[in-house]
Amino acid sequence: MQPTTYNAKAYSAASPTSGLASTKINRRDPTDRDVRIEILFCGICHSDLHSVRNEWSEFMATNYPIVPGHEILGRVTKVGSAVTKYKPGDLVAVGCMVDSDGTCAHCKAGLEQFCPNMILTFNSPDKHLGSVTYGGYSESIVVDERFVLRVPSNLNAAAAAPLLCAGITTYSPMHHWGVTNGKKVGVVGLGGLGSFDFILDAVSADHDINAYINLLGVNGNLTLVGAPAKPLGVAAFSLIGRRRSLSGSMIGGIPETQEMLDFCGAHNITADVEVIPIQKVNEAYERLLKSDVKYRFSIDMASLKSE
Ligand SMILES: [Zn+2]
Ligand SMILES: [Zn+2]
Repeated sequence: MQPTTYNAKAYSAASPTSGLASTKINRRDPTDRDVRIEILFCGICHSDLHSVRNEWSEFMATNYPIVPGHEILGRVTKVGSAVTKYKPGDLVAVGCMVDSDGTCAHCKAGLEQFCPNMILTFNSPDKHLGSVTYGGYSESIVVDERFVLRVPSNLNAAAAAPLLCAGITTYSPMHHWGVTNGKKVGVVGLGGLGSFDFILDAVSADHDINAYINLLGVNGNLTLVGAPAKPLGVAAFSLIGRRRSLSGSMIGGIPETQEMLDFCGAHNITADVEVIPIQKVNEAYERLLKSDVKYRFSIDMASLKSE
């Protein structure tokens, strides 16, 4: 049975060139296991821009209109009758995924990002309403409680939003490759010298990856988290001489995302952000393209109220 719906204010793009503009979208009323969240802040991720402009059409064509946003921070306003983990008033977050089958081996291992039936927060099929999922550039969102995360109350909400994509994307591979105290870690873009144990490559443009692989020590690993559209050329000699490895990583599962948020809470870690009203989102995209930005953008959703 199709659930009942309500209207929510949002910002959407009608085409790759239209830019984002104010609109109203349909959200389902919470079903038994759903949590309705009033969105306080939503980070701007580069994938928002790629998707809005349909730049990943080969891998993931954009369905228009699109409402992007998958770094969502907000407060619970309503819960379904079977929800056990959350209650109205809780500070919560939603990242890149909003659903999965829950039954496959990956889901059972808490690695929902690899589930063949994983549903992204925006531009994925919406099984409830038959349309596509709409993301966090909106005043509210309704999500299955399995994909809702708890936010430590000491964290600043605007600055915690980017943890939901950028944060887990960097945390998960470091965890997987055993980065602990005493390891030398390089992050491409920040530079560094000699003998690294682990390099995190977040560059999403074409670049000479061999220059970075050659900075790794014996058994060193370079993990790609950026997604350049063109294939990268890897010199075999860069890898074989020192048993180096090259790998990729994409966000993280729900248990690991919660672990990352709790870790950030315990150590008071958030992102450096530039808070903007939603009305400046198109300008923010232009600045991203010109690299005219020092910090990650976090959209203050209170600005949607005046639309
Ligand atoms: Zn992202
Ligand atoms: Zn699954």
